[in-house]
Amino acid sequence: MNCEHRNARELNRFATNTIYACGKCGLVFNQNYRQKTDPHELYEKYYKNETSARFNFGIEAVIRLFRLFRAVKILTIHPSAKKILDIGCGRGFMLYFLKKYFKFERAAGIQISRNAVQFARNKLGLEIFDRDLLELSFENGAFDIITMWHVLEHLTEPEEYLRRMCSMLTAGGKLVIEVPNFDSWTRKFTGEHWLGLDPEYHVTYFSPGQFTRLFNKYGLAVKTTHTFSMEYSTFLSTQSIVSRITGSDHLFFRFLQETRFTPALVWHIPLFLLLAPVCFLVNVLLYFSKRGEVLLVVAEKPATMPRAQK
Ligand SMILES: [Zn+2]
Repeated sequence: MNCEHRNARELNRFATNTIYACGKCGLVFNQNYRQKTDPHELYEKYYKNETSARFNFGIEAVIRLFRLFRAVKILTIHPSAKKILDIGCGRGFMLYFLKKYFKFERAAGIQISRNAVQFARNKLGLEIFDRDLLELSFENGAFDIITMWHVLEHLTEPEEYLRRMCSMLTAGGKLVIEVPNFDSWTRKFTGEHWLGLDPEYHVTYFSPGQFTRLFNKYGLAVKTTHTFSMEYSTFLSTQSIVSRITGSDHLFFRFLQETRFTPALVWHIPLFLLLAPVCFLVNVLLYFSKRGEVLLVVAEKPATMPRAQK
């Protein structure tokens, strides 16, 4: 059933990576798509140590606050939900908040980065599966809501995931997926400097129209599409533009992750701070457009599923 993408045409050729679009199924993917890297190996060091921090300085505290916002967002999307699965759940803070403050009966997560698994299980006491979703089996209708925040773009079989997630949802259940928006305003002119490209980890790319068609194909009804994110938009735009102007590779972002100081940061950081308010403003103005930096889609599984399309 999987498309082999034999009709793929070149969309962008960059110095370090080439992007293709499949003429048959519409999937956009980069040249690393077919590399069979073992995901467990690739994400082993995604979360650095036993505290599992991904960032330095006070940013970890801000991330926890954003995970609380995510938990609140889940409540607004599906107020009566009691069972949630978060695929690629990070260290599980959103699940932890849903269980602790919002009375969720089941808050399960899937995570393959070992440090994050240990943290979520041992420190937060969560139900975590440390295998790929496609290697696991859940009963049909096991969850009221399934979420995937910035994960789908890491996968080589996004359609297979959608099909599985759909079967695991209860009738009327919600699927919440957020990915970088391939139609974003900065992607167009920052090209290979667009932060959302991230060819080391991202292998597929999605735009609003193509995303909606994909959901519809599996009988899911798209309820809302947003392209603004308080957490991601400003940073993504600003870093992409700074990298484009300086012809560099996201030095400030890497500095926040690894505290590796490079002299060029002396002017990258002021430039970043100068551009950030402008980027924030542009992203806010684009709130009702389809050109923001992220693509958040909420889809619903109908009470009665239409027969699977051939
Ligand atoms: Zn294809």
